[in-house]
Amino acid sequence: MSLQPCDALLTRAHAHALEHLHGLDARDVGARATRDELLAALRAPLSQPGEDDAAVIDLLASQAPRGTVACNGPRYFGFVVGGTLPVSLAADWLVSAWDQNAGIYVISPLVSVVEEIAADWLLDLFGLPPDCGVGFVTGCQMANLTGLAAARHGVLRRVGWDVEVDGLQGAPRIHVVASAESHITIDVALRYLGLGTSCVRRVEADAQGRMRPDALRAMLATLEGPTIVCAQAGNVNTGSFDPLGEIADACQAHGAWLHVDGAFGLWARASADARIRALADGIERVDSWATDAHKWLNVPYDCGVAIVRSREDHRAAMTSTAAYLVQTKGAERDAVDWVPDFSRRARGVPVYAALRALGRDGIADLVDRLCARARQMADALAREPGVAILADVVLNQVLVRFGDEDDATRRVIAAVQADGTCWLGGTTWQGRAAMRISVSNYGTSAEDAARSVDAIVRAWRQVSRTTR
Ligand SMILES: *Cc1c(COP(=O)(O)O)cnc(C)c1O
Repeated sequence: MSLQPCDALLTRAHAHALEHLHGLDARDVGARATRDELLAALRAPLSQPGEDDAAVIDLLASQAPRGTVACNGPRYFGFVVGGTLPVSLAADWLVSAWDQNAGIYVISPLVSVVEEIAADWLLDLFGLPPDCGVGFVTGCQMANLTGLAAARHGVLRRVGWDVEVDGLQGAPRIHVVASAESHITIDVALRYLGLGTSCVRRVEADAQGRMRPDALRAMLATLEGPTIVCAQAGNVNTGSFDPLGEIADACQAHGAWLHVDGAFGLWARASADARIRALADGIERVDSWATDAHKWLNVPYDCGVAIVRSREDHRAAMTSTAAYLVQTKGAERDAVDWVPDFSRRARGVPVYAALRALGRDGIADLVDRLCARARQMADALAREPGVAILADVVLNQVLVRFGDEDDATRRVIAAVQADGTCWLGGTTWQGRAAMRISVSNYGTSAEDAARSVDAIVRAWRQVSRTTR
């Protein structure tokens, strides 16, 4: 084993990576190998002497065409999964080559400064106060955890309890209020924070999945003491936004902390279309925000962003100190103050690269193009007899229903997945099976959208013929 940079090996990996990227458009979008097939190809007793580096890389690459999903390709519409902009992938390769521990300034001044700038750009782009705390975390799950940890600290600090020192045992009770439609990662974050899930009071949502502000007001009127409200910008099924202005009014009147999960929806703030931007009106009044960069910004996995209005509460909830840690006393940024991680990847670097390369126009175009593709697919599908669009298409999400029986929708989804032209999944919306389309990749062209609609319509016609 040599510590020399191994040009031949990295060139080989580079060639494999390019082959994978060039293959994304033509291949089946779904994976084609089973677990058993992949195990048969990859499992071996761990050898005593080890194996040749190049052979190991070749072996891994050989399984990519059938074992990966083309989720960074242009016709992947499953879950909410962004693609990868070339510039963010290139920046991510630099991150791996640099191998910086981006936890504290002293281990990587460059990464610290790049993340500081990227954080400022994000606040500017989202129209949030410039002095918010910002942490680059692994995803919106951890961004929700970080925001809610700051919330837990903040609401208890206001009643004279230091949760970081004294924990939750014996602490004043915290009321947690969330939309009936909140994302599961809110519940998981509350579990990690020792608040549990049974304490969560659920506020009714309307037919589009938006929290009802009248129901929130009625709920808050029954609660006294430290309170955290979790709203969302971008329902994972419909893309709808809770009415954040009215919710902020209610929280302000009650003295409650308002956290917003905007995993993909916060990007609506960067749109050039006033109607799309208006979806998030009021979001600037929130106390903490969670979003993803690996979804709409199309940076590689993994990258989420936690933002907290009160830098003091954010820092108090996250910071680590130890005698051997050389932490800065000046303006330099130590990432450990803003994220749950200690050692960490320099995941803000691809964010910097993407934002700088796209500029405001490029980011607005990225947001608006994906919304337009979602509307294009919804409009085309709605023209087919027996197909219904279940919710208003306000952003990049579309919910589709086929025929009358849940089974027909499920069979259409399975048929589309087997066909391989595109990939999308299912959900249950208001008690009924639905297909979910999420347009989250910068590379999805109008033609990709049209080809995907054709594949979906073909599958539906086949299913409806065989059920009649
Ligand atoms: C995807 C998503 C999350 C979780 O984000 P991860 O990046 O997967 O951790 C949370 N909330 C919403 C609304 C989401 O769409």
